[in-house]
Amino acid sequence: MTSSMRQWLVHREVPSPNWNERKLPVSMVVLHYTGMRTAADALERMCSPAAEVSAHYMIDEDGTVTQLVDEEKRAWHAGRSSWRGITDVNSASVGIELVNPGHEFGYRPFPEAQIDALLPLLADIVRRHNVPRANVVGHSDVAPARKTDPGELFPWERLAEYRLALSQPKIEIGDPFDNDGAFYLALERFGYDISDGRKAVEAFQRRWRPHKIDGEVDGEIRAILFQLLLDRDQGRTR
Ligand SMILES: [Zn+2]
Repeated sequence: MTSSMRQWLVHREVPSPNWNERKLPVSMVVLHYTGMRTAADALERMCSPAAEVSAHYMIDEDGTVTQLVDEEKRAWHAGRSSWRGITDVNSASVGIELVNPGHEFGYRPFPEAQIDALLPLLADIVRRHNVPRANVVGHSDVAPARKTDPGELFPWERLAEYRLALSQPKIEIGDPFDNDGAFYLALERFGYDISDGRKAVEAFQRRWRPHKIDGEVDGEIRAILFQLLLDRDQGRTR
């Protein structure tokens, strides 16, 4: 990245001590919300050695982008996680924290300015590391039993418009899996850790059918999952 490009995408640097060396090349981006009362609280926590957490970037609600960890290094944002067989998600990902109080302190929509700052930053990351769209995921996708961020208010369709995340599939087939076991196998094949099946279903719903998150396998989510897998197998996504 040229320095002028960098100034446009990243507005300030607040180095965090919480990182180590990557063991895998970057193939994913994990999106989070901070889940704290204020941006200052989140920044302080991500820079505290005792907290042992960090991310590469934090984006304020006004669109200010702060870099905390160099992308070459392994930031500590995903915790115990799994996606498409990768269990050291921190080693394989760039982590972006979006300032939002989260479900605990008053979950609210992500402002336009925040998403407008995310889009070009994400586009640049995805291009430089050749990250597949299917690997731009939420924290709840990679840790369904533990996490609910960035949550059902996150505007995935805005990312999909720029081909930075998978778009909502057009469902062509009514109800493809006739039992829950087949659904869970398919969910695992798509990428989710299904050791807590209900939580994995909730995480899938939070991402793909956010208006009804109940952990129940129903015809609509079966159809969505089937179409997502079909699109990937037919090379429309990767
Ligand atoms: Zn998170």
